[in-house]
Amino acid sequence: MIAQAVIMAGGLGSRLGDRTKAMPKGFLEIGGMPIVEQSVRKLIAAGIEEIIIGTGYHKEFYEDLAKKYTCIKLAHNAAYADAGSMRTLAACVPLVKEDCLVLESDLLYDSIGLNVLINETRRNVILSSGKTGSGDEVYLQVDNDCNLVKHSKKKEELESVYSELVGITKLSRKTLDLMVAYMDDHRQDIPMMEYEVAMSAVSSSGNPIAVRKVEYYTWCEIDDENHLRRAVEQIFPRIAENESLRGIRREVLLNPGPATTTDSVKYAQVQADICPRENEFGDVMGWISKELSLMVGAPGRVETVLFGGSGTAGDEAMISSCVPQDGKLLIVDNGAYGKRMAKMASIYKINYETFASDGIHRMDVEALKSRLLDGKFTHLAIVYHETTTGILNPVPEVCRFCHEHNIVTIVDAVSAFAAIPIDMDRDCIDFMSSTSNKNIQGMAGLAFVFCRKEALESIKDYPMRNYYLNIYDQHHYFIKNNQMRFTPPVQTAYALRQAIIETKIETIEGRYERYTACWKVLIKAIKELGLEMPVPESEQSHLIVTIMDPRSPKYSFNDMHDLSREHGYTIYPGKLSDAPTFRIANIGDIRPEEMEGFTKILAQYMRSIQ
Ligand SMILES: *Cc1c(COP(=O)(O)O)cnc(C)c1O
Repeated sequence: MIAQAVIMAGGLGSRLGDRTKAMPKGFLEIGGMPIVEQSVRKLIAAGIEEIIIGTGYHKEFYEDLAKKYTCIKLAHNAAYADAGSMRTLAACVPLVKEDCLVLESDLLYDSIGLNVLINETRRNVILSSGKTGSGDEVYLQVDNDCNLVKHSKKKEELESVYSELVGITKLSRKTLDLMVAYMDDHRQDIPMMEYEVAMSAVSSSGNPIAVRKVEYYTWCEIDDENHLRRAVEQIFPRIAENESLRGIRREVLLNPGPATTTDSVKYAQVQADICPRENEFGDVMGWISKELSLMVGAPGRVETVLFGGSGTAGDEAMISSCVPQDGKLLIVDNGAYGKRMAKMASIYKINYETFASDGIHRMDVEALKSRLLDGKFTHLAIVYHETTTGILNPVPEVCRFCHEHNIVTIVDAVSAFAAIPIDMDRDCIDFMSSTSNKNIQGMAGLAFVFCRKEALESIKDYPMRNYYLNIYDQHHYFIKNNQMRFTPPVQTAYALRQAIIETKIETIEGRYERYTACWKVLIKAIKELGLEMPVPESEQSHLIVTIMDPRSPKYSFNDMHDLSREHGYTIYPGKLSDAPTFRIANIGDIRPEEMEGFTKILAQYMRSIQ
């Protein structure tokens, strides 16, 4: 995986005169966004985890950008005014771990170029194009194997011209080190060294750097007023068109998972075939586990165990793995998912009882506490967000009480994780399940169980009631072999990796705010249309709303569903056994404007049944 990118952004941009007097070139806006921010977004969408920006001139602009995109790390080149781009690149190199993409900051480019380099089998590759006629070309000369021999802005200095340098390159850490060494050796004779000079030198002295030519690649660099005009009038619209042609038909899922995903998450599934027993894939899963753990606990506090399966597999792994032979489990039942865990406990013949609550009103926590102590329970299972009705259970309060009384806590957080901020230590949660296709906004197919470190160790010798879904075995095998015991859903894992990258940038708090903004739009419309919600607003999770069926005799859920679906919105029937309801979820990659769009369809349907 290519996980890092470097953007060289130290330069003065002096040829742009007044425009860049007070800012770096990368902050020129085209189409309403600085070009370097467009580049950052394209890199993130292409699966880059960390972007290192080498700064110089007006670095404060990049410091602000790094606050907005937490994947950005900065490296400053203090000598930016009298050293070339190679010095800026050299400042970044210590942060580079393996192979990375290296980009100039003043580029406007079609994102497909990043995929071309990422898909290259060769490790050191320069992206180049056919003739652009831009007026500031860097021409490349190659050998018979298409490796870089020499570059120049003057055609006559080259024996032949193969292509033009774009300014996006894939380089290994080793090649970068050789380029830095070359620069250091030539501090005296070439004090202002551009990075192309070091690339040509390294490539022609036994460490070949390949040149990949994409004849009709859409891109431009912006060095002067003519470039800027050409960028705005010709290149930007072409890039926008190309990229929109690769967009995937938008369907807004208002069902409670699988949730709507970004196109970049969808595309992340398209990867080279790989045997999941390869270390390279083990590292992807290891990264996923580590990053998921960091979302629910301090470093080193939580282990995340992955299973192939839907969210229910996570619940079943917990129920079958976390209760010892002589344990006694109390399961809170205030909806379909609590009931499901009780069903599992009965199948595994675990000594359990249920604590029933209606799922519409806040549960009686004091009654639950007395029941736990009076019944001498050793374990408690509870659903964090009961998706049946959209009620949020008081999990931190209940689990803290359990912790004080040595009761182990098992939490189904399938539809809460990645929307509700959770810290398993702070909230005293021992085991917790979730899945790849709800608020984390990935594809269906992976279940995960978060385990507090000590809790995981404590279940080591518990009876193995289920072979496939045993938490300790799955964990132990992965740590030892860097593999899952059984074939994982490979493409789902790649999508989850991308979903994690995107979640880290939005942040879980930010995601909850966006979900809440969508929920507000929704309940405003529900109230205006005179529809009723059984769960009081104050108890609602902001993630899904249960709505009473309209009283009109003409009402049909299927008609309402079909009308919504025709307009690109998928809705979901209710799950309450004693009242006719339907549900609208507002999780996933959806925006308040899209929820506005849905409320118009809902209003149209309501008029049609009056
Ligand atoms: C979605 C969900 C599950 C799991 O459902 P799957 O269809 O197995 O993914 C479990 N618990 C809750 C609370 C849920 O919302």
